[in-house]
Amino acid sequence: MLNDPKVARLFEFLIDHQKTPALEPVFAPRRDGWVSYPSIEEQLGVESDYVVRLLEDLRRLGYLHKQFHDKVLFCPACNSQDLQLVILCPKCHSAHLLRKRFLKHNNCGYVGPEENFGRGETRICPKCRDELVLLGSDYQNMGIRYGCGDCGEVVENPEEKWLCRSCGRFFGKLDVRELVLYRYEVNPAQLAKLKVERIPKARVHEFLTREGYEIQESALATGRSGAEHQIDLLATKRSGPLEHRIVVGFASAEKEVDSEEVIKLYAKAYDVDAQDTILVVSPRLSKDAQNFARHYHIKVFDAEQLNHPNVNISV
Ligand SMILES: [Zn+2]
Ligand SMILES: [Zn+2]
Ligand SMILES: [Zn+2]
Repeated sequence: MLNDPKVARLFEFLIDHQKTPALEPVFAPRRDGWVSYPSIEEQLGVESDYVVRLLEDLRRLGYLHKQFHDKVLFCPACNSQDLQLVILCPKCHSAHLLRKRFLKHNNCGYVGPEENFGRGETRICPKCRDELVLLGSDYQNMGIRYGCGDCGEVVENPEEKWLCRSCGRFFGKLDVRELVLYRYEVNPAQLAKLKVERIPKARVHEFLTREGYEIQESALATGRSGAEHQIDLLATKRSGPLEHRIVVGFASAEKEVDSEEVIKLYAKAYDVDAQDTILVVSPRLSKDAQNFARHYHIKVFDAEQLNHPNVNISV
């Protein structure tokens, strides 16, 4: 899968857009799924389901981290997210509920909204006409409750429903659908590796394929000496009786790739009768190694440069 040019393009895109939310999902209900990653789809020219599978595969391989992004609620009937939580009177199912502070007169037990006890300085119980003086001994503050504007019921726990404003249906609290959306981030530890190994290889692979070469990655080739060589990338093009072979090697070192790598590559290329030899290095060749490369006519490319799409690889 990692040889897929689309994957290489995705990685390039991720490297270029490390700071931007390239891998953010959007809710997109379709026949075959619910999520979409629009910037990736556009970049690769592929469908959502392909991107969803690709991102998961890359996560499994350790290239990406998955993180919680958002949770969306949507209508089970029409998929609309235009939902409104409505509270209803449990007795008459009216939505005409008014939030009010309720008081209780201890003497007669009357419970009602604060406004029923009068608005002035003095509070009079509307049921027994007694005056309420001391909070605690005369009357109690029952806190905020709902009063039904239709049937007068005092409601502590109103019925909760979701109204879909798009199709007008009501749903119980647990009946609306919910979906957790995840975004992906590039695993920084893998990113360095990608820049040095995967992308340059994919880039060379793509270029030589376009030039009409047949590519074998990690090819085993038997040389004229009878020795078997492992070759990072072997490109072959036949035209009539002629065969053009290119041996491509990839070498990286912490500071400089030394001459030994150059010599080993040259020996392999010579033994398998390659007409051209390419070496992709990261971060660079040592002075010594540069001289060997020039002497052996090995074309050298900088892996970092190959991360950029506009570099021309000419053979
Ligand atoms: Zn009273
Ligand atoms: Zn009611
Ligand atoms: Zn709906």
